Amino acid sequence: MLGHVKLNYPHIMRGWFSQLSPVGIEAGTMTVIARNGAQVRYLDKHCRTAFAEAAQAATGRLMTVTFEADIQETHQEEPLRSLGEEADGALLLNPDYTFDNFITGPCNRLAHAAARAVADSPGRSYNPLFVHGAVGLGKTHLIQAVCHELRKQNAEVKCHYISCEMFTNDFIEAVERGALHQFRYRYRQADALVIDDVQFLADRERSQEELFHTFNTLTQSKRQIILSADCAPPEIPSLKERLVSRFNSGLVTVLDRPCLETRMAIIRKKAKLRCIELDEDVVQFVASRINTNNREIDGALTMLDAVSQTDSKPITLKLAEQALGKAPARLVTIPTIMEVVALRMNVKVSDLQSKRRSKSITHPRQVCMYLARELTTLSLEQIGGYFGGRDHTTVLHAHRTIVQRIDKDPEMGVLLKETELEARHACA
Ligand code: ADP
Ligand code: MG
Repeated sequence: MLGHVKLNYPHIMRGWFSQLSPVGIEAGTMTVIARNGAQVRYLDKHCRTAFAEAAQAATGRLMTVTFEADIQETHQEEPLRSLGEEADGALLLNPDYTFDNFITGPCNRLAHAAARAVADSPGRSYNPLFVHGAVGLGKTHLIQAVCHELRKQNAEVKCHYISCEMFTNDFIEAVERGALHQFRYRYRQADALVIDDVQFLADRERSQEELFHTFNTLTQSKRQIILSADCAPPEIPSLKERLVSRFNSGLVTVLDRPCLETRMAIIRKKAKLRCIELDEDVVQFVASRINTNNREIDGALTMLDAVSQTDSKPITLKLAEQALGKAPARLVTIPTIMEVVALRMNVKVSDLQSKRRSKSITHPRQVCMYLARELTTLSLEQIGGYFGGRDHTTVLHAHRTIVQRIDKDPEMGVLLKETELEARHACA
Protein backbone atom coordinates (compact mmCIF):
# COMPACT_ATOMS: atom_id res chain seq x y z
CA MET A 1 0.00 0.00 0.00
CA LEU A 2 2.79 2.42 0.87
CA GLY A 3 4.41 1.77 -2.49
CA HIS A 4 1.16 2.73 -4.15
CA VAL A 5 0.81 5.89 -2.07
CA LYS A 6 4.41 6.93 -2.71
CA LEU A 7 3.97 6.49 -6.42
CA ASN A 8 0.69 8.28 -6.79
CA TYR A 9 0.64 10.75 -3.91
CA PRO A 10 4.31 11.47 -3.19
CA HIS A 11 3.57 14.82 -1.54
CA ILE A 12 1.65 13.27 1.35
CA MET A 13 4.29 10.59 2.09
CA ARG A 14 5.83 10.76 5.57
CA GLY A 15 8.65 8.74 7.10
CA TRP A 16 6.51 7.59 9.98
CA PHE A 17 4.13 5.83 7.60
CA SER A 18 6.39 2.80 8.06
CA GLN A 19 5.11 2.57 11.64
CA LEU A 20 1.45 2.35 10.59
CA SER A 21 -0.13 -1.04 10.93
CA PRO A 22 -3.30 -2.37 9.35
CA VAL A 23 -5.16 -4.35 12.01
CA GLY A 24 -8.12 -5.73 10.18
CA ILE A 25 -10.77 -5.46 7.51
CA GLU A 26 -14.40 -5.46 8.40
CA ALA A 27 -17.40 -4.73 6.21
CA GLY A 28 -15.25 -3.17 3.51
CA THR A 29 -13.34 -0.95 5.89
CA MET A 30 -9.69 -1.38 6.70
CA THR A 31 -8.55 -0.06 10.06
CA VAL A 32 -5.05 1.35 10.23
CA ILE A 33 -3.42 2.08 13.56
CA ALA A 34 -1.17 5.11 13.99
CA ARG A 35 1.05 6.01 16.91
CA ASN A 36 -0.86 9.02 18.19
CA GLY A 37 -3.68 11.48 17.65
CA ALA A 38 -1.55 13.93 15.70
CA GLN A 39 -0.72 11.27 13.14
CA VAL A 40 -4.36 10.23 12.89
CA ARG A 41 -5.38 13.81 12.22
CA TYR A 42 -2.78 14.15 9.51
CA LEU A 43 -3.99 10.91 7.91
CA ASP A 44 -7.63 11.93 8.18
CA LYS A 45 -6.99 15.27 6.64
CA HIS A 46 -4.65 14.40 3.79
CA CYS A 47 -4.60 10.68 3.17
CA ARG A 48 -8.07 9.16 3.06
CA THR A 49 -8.40 8.92 -0.69
CA ALA A 50 -4.81 7.86 -1.24
CA PHE A 51 -5.01 5.06 1.29
CA ALA A 52 -8.38 3.85 0.06
CA GLU A 53 -7.02 3.62 -3.48
CA ALA A 54 -3.91 1.87 -2.23
CA ALA A 55 -5.97 -0.61 -0.21
CA GLN A 56 -8.06 -1.35 -3.26
CA ALA A 57 -5.00 -1.82 -5.41
CA ALA A 58 -3.42 -4.13 -2.84
CA THR A 59 -6.48 -6.26 -2.15
CA GLY A 60 -8.39 -6.03 -5.40
CA ARG A 61 -11.47 -5.17 -3.38
CA LEU A 62 -13.48 -2.01 -3.01
CA MET A 63 -12.49 -0.59 0.34
CA THR A 64 -12.36 2.41 2.60
CA VAL A 65 -9.75 3.05 5.24
CA THR A 66 -10.14 4.48 8.73
CA PHE A 67 -7.33 5.59 10.97
CA GLU A 68 -7.16 5.12 14.70
CA ALA A 69 -4.62 6.00 17.34
CA ASP A 70 -2.82 3.33 19.32
CA ILE A 71 -4.98 2.57 22.37
CA GLN A 72 -2.14 3.04 24.84
CA GLU A 73 -1.61 6.58 23.75
CA THR A 74 -5.19 7.79 23.68
CA HIS A 75 -6.47 8.47 27.11
CA GLN A 76 -9.99 9.52 26.36
CA GLU A 77 -12.62 9.48 23.69
CA GLU A 78 -12.12 12.56 21.63
CA PRO A 79 -15.26 14.23 20.35
CA LEU A 80 -15.55 15.10 16.67
CA ARG A 81 -14.20 18.50 15.80
CA SER A 82 -13.65 20.66 12.81
CA LEU A 83 -10.57 19.91 10.76
CA GLY A 84 -7.51 21.77 11.90
CA GLU A 85 -8.69 22.19 15.47
CA GLU A 86 -8.58 20.27 18.70
CA ALA A 87 -11.69 19.72 20.76
CA ASP A 88 -10.93 22.73 22.93
CA GLY A 89 -10.41 25.04 19.97
CA ALA A 90 -6.63 24.81 19.99
CA LEU A 91 -4.84 24.28 16.69
CA LEU A 92 -3.64 20.87 15.66
CA LEU A 93 0.04 20.25 15.85
CA ASN A 94 1.96 19.29 12.76
CA PRO A 95 3.15 15.72 13.47
CA ASP A 96 6.48 16.46 11.77
CA TYR A 97 7.32 19.39 14.02
CA THR A 98 9.05 17.41 16.77
CA PHE A 99 12.42 17.80 18.46
CA ASP A 100 13.60 14.68 16.66
CA ASN A 101 13.08 16.42 13.36
CA PHE A 102 14.56 19.74 14.43
CA ILE A 103 18.12 20.24 13.25
CA THR A 104 20.37 22.32 15.46
CA GLY A 105 23.26 24.49 14.39
CA PRO A 106 24.93 27.73 15.43
CA CYS A 107 21.86 29.63 14.20
CA ASN A 108 19.45 28.07 16.65
CA ARG A 109 21.40 26.25 19.34
CA LEU A 110 20.38 28.56 22.17
CA ALA A 111 16.74 28.69 21.19
CA HIS A 112 16.67 24.93 20.89
CA ALA A 113 18.31 24.44 24.30
CA ALA A 114 15.82 26.84 25.87
CA ALA A 115 12.88 25.03 24.27
CA ARG A 116 14.22 21.72 25.53
CA ALA A 117 14.59 23.12 29.03
CA VAL A 118 11.02 24.36 28.96
CA ALA A 119 9.78 20.98 27.77
CA ASP A 120 11.67 19.30 30.61
CA SER A 121 10.40 21.55 33.37
CA PRO A 122 7.47 23.64 32.18
CA GLY A 123 6.67 26.72 34.23
CA ARG A 124 9.96 26.54 36.04
CA SER A 125 12.90 27.16 33.74
CA TYR A 126 12.10 30.08 31.44
CA ASN A 127 8.71 31.67 31.68
CA PRO A 128 7.71 33.00 29.26
CA LEU A 129 9.87 31.64 26.50
CA PHE A 130 9.85 34.10 23.64
CA VAL A 131 11.24 32.89 20.30
CA HIS A 132 11.69 35.32 17.45
CA GLY A 133 13.18 35.30 13.99
CA ALA A 134 12.35 35.96 10.34
CA VAL A 135 9.85 33.94 8.31
CA GLY A 136 10.71 30.30 7.76
CA LEU A 137 13.47 29.95 10.32
CA GLY A 138 11.65 27.36 12.42
CA LYS A 139 9.70 29.25 15.11
CA THR A 140 6.51 27.30 14.64
CA HIS A 141 8.41 24.03 14.38
CA LEU A 142 10.30 24.68 17.60
CA ILE A 143 7.37 25.77 19.75
CA GLN A 144 5.22 22.91 18.48
CA ALA A 145 8.06 20.54 19.37
CA VAL A 146 7.68 21.67 22.97
CA CYS A 147 3.94 20.90 22.81
CA HIS A 148 4.59 17.44 21.40
CA GLU A 149 7.11 16.78 24.12
CA LEU A 150 4.83 17.97 26.93
CA ARG A 151 2.02 15.78 25.68
CA LYS A 152 4.33 12.83 25.30
CA GLN A 153 5.52 13.15 28.88
CA ASN A 154 2.06 13.53 30.28
CA ALA A 155 -1.06 12.75 28.31
CA GLU A 156 -3.18 14.73 30.76
CA VAL A 157 -1.34 17.98 30.27
CA LYS A 158 -3.40 20.79 28.76
CA CYS A 159 -1.10 22.30 26.20
CA HIS A 160 -3.00 24.94 24.28
CA TYR A 161 -1.37 25.86 20.96
CA ILE A 162 -2.94 28.71 19.01
CA SER A 163 -2.10 31.43 16.56
CA CYS A 164 -2.25 34.97 17.79
CA GLU A 165 -4.97 35.67 15.26
CA MET A 166 -7.11 32.97 16.83
CA PHE A 167 -6.65 34.52 20.21
CA THR A 168 -7.73 37.95 19.02
CA ASN A 169 -10.62 36.59 16.93
CA ASP A 170 -11.82 34.39 19.76
CA PHE A 171 -11.65 37.32 22.08
CA ILE A 172 -13.62 39.64 19.81
CA GLU A 173 -16.23 36.94 19.29
CA ALA A 174 -16.47 36.27 23.02
CA VAL A 175 -17.02 39.97 23.68
CA GLU A 176 -19.73 40.13 21.02
CA ARG A 177 -21.51 37.06 22.31
CA GLY A 178 -21.15 38.10 25.93
CA ALA A 179 -19.20 34.90 26.54
CA LEU A 180 -16.05 36.28 28.10
CA HIS A 181 -16.38 33.92 30.99
CA GLN A 182 -15.99 30.81 28.82
CA PHE A 183 -13.21 32.48 26.87
CA ARG A 184 -11.26 33.14 30.03
CA TYR A 185 -11.89 29.71 31.39
CA ARG A 186 -10.58 28.12 28.21
CA TYR A 187 -7.36 30.08 28.16
CA ARG A 188 -6.67 30.32 31.83
CA GLN A 189 -6.97 26.65 32.63
CA ALA A 190 -4.15 25.68 30.27
CA ASP A 191 -1.02 24.13 31.75
CA ALA A 192 0.90 25.56 28.86
CA LEU A 193 -0.32 28.34 26.60
CA VAL A 194 1.55 28.58 23.32
CA ILE A 195 0.80 31.52 21.03
CA ASP A 196 2.38 31.71 17.60
CA ASP A 197 3.08 34.97 15.76
CA VAL A 198 2.24 37.47 18.49
CA GLN A 199 3.34 40.32 16.21
CA PHE A 200 -0.32 40.26 15.18
CA LEU A 201 -1.11 41.93 18.49
CA ALA A 202 0.05 45.18 16.91
CA ASP A 203 -2.75 47.74 17.13
CA ARG A 204 -5.07 45.30 18.93
CA GLU A 205 -5.42 47.20 22.13
CA ARG A 206 -8.15 45.22 23.84
CA SER A 207 -6.68 41.87 22.92
CA GLN A 208 -3.40 43.04 24.39
CA GLU A 209 -5.18 43.96 27.59
CA GLU A 210 -6.85 40.57 27.76
CA LEU A 211 -3.62 38.74 27.05
CA PHE A 212 -1.94 40.73 29.79
CA HIS A 213 -4.40 39.37 32.35
CA THR A 214 -4.29 35.84 30.95
CA PHE A 215 -0.53 36.06 31.14
CA ASN A 216 -0.57 37.09 34.79
CA THR A 217 -3.04 34.42 35.82
CA LEU A 218 -0.98 31.71 34.19
CA THR A 219 2.44 32.77 35.34
CA GLN A 220 1.28 33.34 38.89
CA SER A 221 0.35 29.71 39.12
CA LYS A 222 3.62 28.68 37.47
CA ARG A 223 2.10 27.58 34.24
CA GLN A 224 4.17 27.85 31.08
CA ILE A 225 3.77 30.45 28.37
CA ILE A 226 5.55 30.24 25.03
CA LEU A 227 5.37 32.96 22.41
CA SER A 228 6.78 33.45 18.96
CA ALA A 229 7.04 36.54 16.78
CA ASP A 230 8.93 37.79 13.77
CA CYS A 231 10.76 40.34 15.91
CA ALA A 232 11.80 40.99 19.50
CA PRO A 233 9.12 42.26 21.93
CA PRO A 234 10.08 45.96 21.85
CA GLU A 235 9.91 45.93 18.04
CA ILE A 236 6.28 44.84 17.87
CA PRO A 237 4.51 48.03 16.77
CA SER A 238 2.33 49.65 19.40
CA LEU A 239 2.73 46.80 21.86
CA LYS A 240 1.88 48.19 25.29
CA GLU A 241 4.87 48.75 27.50
CA ARG A 242 3.65 46.43 30.21
CA LEU A 243 3.28 43.56 27.75
CA VAL A 244 6.75 44.26 26.38
CA SER A 245 8.12 43.96 29.88
CA ARG A 246 6.13 40.76 30.54
CA PHE A 247 7.36 39.23 27.29
CA ASN A 248 10.90 40.20 28.22
CA SER A 249 10.64 38.83 31.71
CA GLY A 250 11.53 35.23 30.90
CA LEU A 251 13.93 34.30 28.14
CA VAL A 252 13.97 36.00 24.75
CA THR A 253 15.82 33.94 22.20
CA VAL A 254 16.36 34.35 18.49
CA LEU A 255 16.56 32.09 15.46
CA ASP A 256 19.11 33.18 12.88
CA ARG A 257 19.54 32.18 9.29
CA PRO A 258 21.03 28.70 9.07
CA CYS A 259 24.52 28.16 7.71
CA LEU A 260 25.16 25.83 4.78
CA GLU A 261 25.78 22.76 6.94
CA THR A 262 22.60 23.24 8.92
CA ARG A 263 20.63 23.75 5.74
CA MET A 264 22.07 20.55 4.33
CA ALA A 265 21.10 18.67 7.48
CA ILE A 266 17.56 20.08 7.30
CA ILE A 267 17.28 19.02 3.66
CA ARG A 268 18.47 15.49 4.50
CA LYS A 269 15.98 15.29 7.33
CA LYS A 270 13.07 16.60 5.26
CA ALA A 271 13.89 14.26 2.39
CA LYS A 272 14.01 11.32 4.76
CA LEU A 273 10.68 12.30 6.29
CA ARG A 274 9.12 12.34 2.87
CA CYS A 275 10.88 9.18 1.72
CA ILE A 276 12.78 10.96 -1.03
CA GLU A 277 16.26 9.71 -1.76
CA LEU A 278 18.84 12.40 -2.40
CA ASP A 279 22.54 12.11 -3.13
CA GLU A 280 24.90 14.37 -1.26
CA ASP A 281 25.66 16.48 -4.31
CA VAL A 282 21.96 17.19 -4.73
CA VAL A 283 21.61 18.03 -1.03
CA GLN A 284 24.46 20.49 -1.37
CA PHE A 285 23.02 21.97 -4.52
CA VAL A 286 19.60 22.55 -2.95
CA ALA A 287 21.24 24.03 0.15
CA SER A 288 23.19 26.45 -2.00
CA ARG A 289 19.98 27.59 -3.67
CA ILE A 290 17.95 28.15 -0.54
CA ASN A 291 19.47 30.29 2.11
CA THR A 292 16.93 32.56 3.69
CA ASN A 293 13.73 30.66 4.25
CA ASN A 294 13.62 27.00 5.23
CA ARG A 295 10.06 26.79 4.00
CA GLU A 296 11.39 26.82 0.47
CA ILE A 297 13.10 23.51 1.16
CA ASP A 298 9.73 21.79 1.12
CA GLY A 299 8.85 23.46 -2.15
CA ALA A 300 12.15 22.42 -3.71
CA LEU A 301 11.72 18.81 -2.58
CA THR A 302 8.20 18.69 -3.96
CA MET A 303 9.47 20.03 -7.24
CA LEU A 304 12.33 17.49 -7.44
CA ASP A 305 10.06 14.63 -6.52
CA ALA A 306 7.44 15.65 -9.04
CA VAL A 307 9.93 16.04 -11.89
CA SER A 308 11.60 12.74 -11.12
CA GLN A 309 8.20 11.00 -11.01
CA THR A 310 6.99 12.46 -14.29
CA ASP A 311 10.22 11.70 -16.10
CA SER A 312 10.67 8.37 -14.26
CA LYS A 313 14.25 9.32 -13.54
CA PRO A 314 16.16 9.29 -10.26
CA ILE A 315 16.95 12.64 -8.70
CA THR A 316 20.45 13.43 -9.93
CA LEU A 317 22.37 16.68 -9.78
CA LYS A 318 21.56 17.24 -13.44
CA LEU A 319 17.85 16.79 -12.85
CA ALA A 320 17.99 19.10 -9.84
CA GLU A 321 19.77 21.77 -11.85
CA GLN A 322 17.16 21.52 -14.57
CA ALA A 323 14.26 21.56 -12.14
CA LEU A 324 15.46 24.32 -9.87
CA GLY A 325 17.55 26.38 -12.28
CA LYS A 326 21.27 26.16 -12.50
CA ALA A 327 22.53 29.56 -11.49
CA PRO A 328 22.68 30.11 -7.76
CA ALA A 329 20.24 32.70 -6.51
CA ARG A 330 21.78 36.10 -7.08
CA LEU A 331 21.61 38.91 -4.66
CA VAL A 332 19.03 41.45 -5.62
CA THR A 333 19.47 45.15 -4.97
CA ILE A 334 16.81 47.50 -3.66
CA PRO A 335 17.06 49.95 -6.57
CA THR A 336 16.27 47.06 -8.92
CA ILE A 337 13.34 45.98 -6.78
CA MET A 338 12.02 49.53 -6.92
CA GLU A 339 12.40 49.74 -10.68
CA VAL A 340 10.65 46.45 -11.28
CA VAL A 341 7.81 47.22 -8.87
CA ALA A 342 7.41 50.75 -10.24
CA LEU A 343 7.06 49.41 -13.75
CA ARG A 344 4.71 46.62 -12.79
CA MET A 345 2.47 48.58 -10.47
CA ASN A 346 2.51 51.74 -12.47
CA VAL A 347 4.08 54.19 -10.02
CA LYS A 348 7.22 56.31 -10.09
CA VAL A 349 10.39 55.29 -8.30
CA SER A 350 10.52 58.79 -6.82
CA ASP A 351 7.06 58.22 -5.31
CA LEU A 352 8.25 55.03 -3.66
CA GLN A 353 11.05 57.00 -2.06
CA SER A 354 8.82 59.89 -1.08
CA LYS A 355 6.88 60.52 2.11
CA ARG A 356 3.55 60.39 0.27
CA ARG A 357 1.01 58.20 1.97
CA SER A 358 -1.78 57.83 -0.56
CA LYS A 359 -2.96 54.27 -0.91
CA SER A 360 -1.88 54.02 -4.54
CA ILE A 361 1.70 54.53 -3.36
CA THR A 362 1.66 52.85 0.03
CA HIS A 363 0.82 49.45 -1.35
CA PRO A 364 3.58 49.29 -3.98
CA ARG A 365 5.98 50.66 -1.39
CA GLN A 366 5.02 47.87 0.99
CA VAL A 367 5.57 45.34 -1.77
CA CYS A 368 9.06 46.76 -2.26
CA MET A 369 9.82 46.56 1.44
CA TYR A 370 8.55 43.02 1.60
CA LEU A 371 10.73 41.97 -1.31
CA ALA A 372 13.70 43.84 0.11
CA ARG A 373 13.36 41.95 3.37
CA GLU A 374 12.95 38.61 1.60
CA LEU A 375 15.59 38.99 -1.06
CA THR A 376 18.38 41.10 0.37
CA THR A 377 20.47 40.71 3.48
CA LEU A 378 20.00 44.35 4.52
CA SER A 379 18.76 45.23 7.99
CA LEU A 380 15.34 46.77 8.58
CA GLU A 381 16.96 50.16 9.19
CA GLN A 382 18.93 49.95 5.98
CA ILE A 383 15.83 49.02 4.02
CA GLY A 384 13.86 51.87 5.59
CA GLY A 385 16.64 54.20 4.50
CA TYR A 386 15.88 53.53 0.85
CA PHE A 387 12.27 54.55 1.27
CA GLY A 388 12.51 58.11 2.45
CA GLY A 389 14.26 57.27 5.72
CA ARG A 390 11.46 55.25 7.28
CA ASP A 391 12.20 53.49 10.52
CA HIS A 392 12.47 49.77 11.09
CA THR A 393 8.95 49.34 12.50
CA THR A 394 7.49 50.69 9.26
CA VAL A 395 9.42 48.08 7.30
CA LEU A 396 8.32 45.33 9.68
CA HIS A 397 4.73 46.48 9.40
CA ALA A 398 4.93 46.54 5.60
CA HIS A 399 6.36 43.03 5.53
CA ARG A 400 3.62 41.75 7.80
CA THR A 401 0.86 43.41 5.86
CA ILE A 402 2.02 41.73 2.68
CA VAL A 403 2.41 38.35 4.41
CA GLN A 404 -1.18 38.63 5.58
CA ARG A 405 -2.34 39.53 2.10
CA ILE A 406 -0.56 36.53 0.61
CA ASP A 407 -2.42 34.30 3.01
CA LYS A 408 -5.75 35.75 1.94
CA ASP A 409 -5.10 36.36 -1.72
CA PRO A 410 -3.22 33.78 -3.79
CA GLU A 411 -2.82 36.26 -6.64
CA MET A 412 -0.70 38.41 -4.40
CA GLY A 413 1.70 35.48 -4.04
CA VAL A 414 1.88 35.08 -7.80
CA LEU A 415 2.51 38.77 -8.32
CA LEU A 416 5.33 38.70 -5.78
CA LYS A 417 6.91 35.63 -7.29
CA GLU A 418 6.84 37.18 -10.75
CA THR A 419 8.25 40.43 -9.45
CA GLU A 420 10.96 38.53 -7.64
CA LEU A 421 11.90 36.65 -10.78
CA GLU A 422 12.04 39.86 -12.78
CA ALA A 423 14.20 41.50 -10.15
CA ARG A 424 16.55 38.53 -10.05
CA HIS A 425 16.72 38.51 -13.79
CA ALA A 426 17.51 42.23 -13.89
CA CYS A 427 20.32 41.72 -11.37
CA ALA A 428 21.81 38.73 -13.15
P1 ADP B 1 8.49 30.06 11.02
O1 ADP B 1 7.39 29.70 11.95
O2 ADP B 1 9.68 30.65 11.71
O3 ADP B 1 8.05 30.92 9.86
P2 ADP B 1 8.50 27.26 10.44
O4 ADP B 1 8.62 26.71 11.80
O5 ADP B 1 7.17 27.22 9.80
O6 ADP B 1 9.07 28.75 10.36
O7 ADP B 1 9.57 26.52 9.52
C1 ADP B 1 9.50 26.52 8.11
C2 ADP B 1 9.89 25.15 7.59
O8 ADP B 1 11.27 24.93 7.81
C3 ADP B 1 9.18 24.01 8.30
O9 ADP B 1 8.92 23.01 7.36
C4 ADP B 1 10.18 23.52 9.32
O10 ADP B 1 10.01 22.16 9.61
C5 ADP B 1 11.48 23.78 8.61
N1 ADP B 1 12.57 24.08 9.56
C6 ADP B 1 12.94 25.30 10.01
N2 ADP B 1 13.97 25.20 10.85
C7 ADP B 1 14.26 23.88 10.95
C8 ADP B 1 15.24 23.12 11.68
N3 ADP B 1 16.14 23.71 12.47
N4 ADP B 1 15.23 21.78 11.52
C9 ADP B 1 14.35 21.17 10.71
N5 ADP B 1 13.40 21.83 10.01
C10 ADP B 1 13.35 23.16 10.11
MG1 MG C 1 5.39 30.23 11.95
